[in-house]
Amino acid sequence: MEEYTRERAAEWLNKHWQGPKICPICQSNNWVFSESLVEIRPYHGGQIFVGGTLYPLFLLICGVCGYTVLFNAIVAGLISPTPAKEEKIDAPAVEKKES
Ligand SMILES: [Zn+2]
Repeated sequence: MEEYTRERAAEWLNKHWQGPKICPICQSNNWVFSESLVEIRPYHGGQIFVGGTLYPLFLLICGVCGYTVLFNAIVAGLISPTPAKEEKIDAPAVEKKES
């Protein structure tokens, strides 16, 4: 099984990142890869779909200002896609922020 490592992420990114590798916010060049993969899931109106679609990502974080870039780990070939099965559960009481 393929595994995420910062080294593999850096190797992939160096092949794909064209132009100067500077932060668009603070103009520094002090990037750090996330320690592990993270995931983002679709918003379902406050309900959680366990086993539903997830987007596995690795992060590139500016070490100066914290600006964060997301990269899809499947597209980068760092992990294999797994088939998703959807199962709806009631979300625990979540604080909703109303403005
Ligand atoms: Zn920055």
